[in-house]
Amino acid sequence: MNTVEQQLNAQKTLYREIFLKSVDEIQKRLDQIKPEGLSGELLEKFEAGSAGHEWQKKSLTLLNGEISQEVYRKLQEVLAYREMFKCQGCATCCRLACSEFSPEELKEKAANGDKFAQQFTSIFIPYETREEAEAVYPEYIQHLKEKVDGEVYFYHCPKLTDDNRCSDYENRPQICRDFPGNPLAVLPEKCGYRAWKDEINPVALMLHSMVEIIDFYKSKLQEVI
Ligand code: SF4
Ligand code: SF4
Repeated sequence: MNTVEQQLNAQKTLYREIFLKSVDEIQKRLDQIKPEGLSGELLEKFEAGSAGHEWQKKSLTLLNGEISQEVYRKLQEVLAYREMFKCQGCATCCRLACSEFSPEELKEKAANGDKFAQQFTSIFIPYETREEAEAVYPEYIQHLKEKVDGEVYFYHCPKLTDDNRCSDYENRPQICRDFPGNPLAVLPEKCGYRAWKDEINPVALMLHSMVEIIDFYKSKLQEVI
């Protein structure tokens, strides 16, 4: 098992534990606003105007408002803390970007106004062969080969110079300035943000689990309200 796999397996185990804790926490918050004496569960069908129905509406407001805002605030803190760490200039993130979308799909998304796709296609071009991409970060590509069912496309940025410099640094797009924007992204060991990612990992997993649980409750509540 390579280190990328070890990293991701440990992540999955930890995520399961954290997810269950988050379910408990959110359930407690929703139970705190349950009308006294009301029998029945949050996701069952209540009559319109009944106490149970009002509880469901308040729960939806709590999930959309206070609880979502807490997640957003915490995520901003996590991203702000990234500023304490520095890029080490290894250039792996310029040499290898992976996407589930083909170059044609990305172009189409960009033409349809997708901001990320617009920035991505403004710098990254596809590798001619998988072998070229593999040479950049073999462990990661091996992991993707074994674990990812769908197609993965590999890209690199031609603005990178032979001595690992960005030839258009002043004009690099926001996705380069914000990298790594996702605290759960796989980062190479030599990346200067690995220490950040490792340190905030439990919080990032907790926030991810909360988003999943909030989405679950929101969709179920919308079905029964
Ligand atoms: S624009 Fe510069 S910083 Fe961004 S991927 Fe290309 S070389 Fe790297
Ligand atoms: S992988 Fe990390 S250290 Fe390497 S260039 Fe990108 S941000 Fe900098």
